[in-house]
Amino acid sequence: MALQKRRRGPARTGHQRSAWMRKSGANHMVVQPCANCGAPRIAHRVCMSCGQYRGEQIIAKPAAEE
Ligand SMILES: [Zn+2]
Repeated sequence: MALQKRRRGPARTGHQRSAWMRKSGANHMVVQPCANCGAPRIAHRVCMSCGQYRGEQIIAKPAAEE
């Protein structure tokens, strides 16, 4: 007889996980100062004020700079 692979799929797991994360108070949007301009920036994301990520220019001309 065939065996059940898993009890719930990725969508159900993610749905429950978001509730766990909310309960545990885990913060997905960690805000840290940008290394280049010092503006508050979400960790592991491109800085929205200077457009740099890890010293590389990702966004050519951000609206805030001009
Ligand atoms: Zn920056």
